[in-house]
Amino acid sequence: MVDIIKTAANNYKAPKKHICKYCDRGFVKESTLLAHMCESKRRWEQKDDPHVRLGQQAYIIFFKQTLIKSSLYSGNSGISKANS
Ligand SMILES: [Zn+2]
Repeated sequence: MVDIIKTAANNYKAPKKHICKYCDRGFVKESTLLAHMCESKRRWEQKDDPHVRLGQQAYIIFFKQTLIKSSLYSGNSGISKANS
């Protein structure tokens, strides 16, 4: 029991050599870093998946359509000034 506590305390105090480049969280073991999954890392690894690309294309189409409609209804050209 005492050994477990000492090991845990040493691991806690040990310098964390392996840093996740997505969330800057440090890990003692490289295997823990490889098994680690944060939201930023998950999104980066899934960026080329078909369902993510479809969602991005749908967002782009939606954004283009709403951009045109909002500039028609608002009357001012605030958005077009930002683009030019
Ligand atoms: Zn991370």
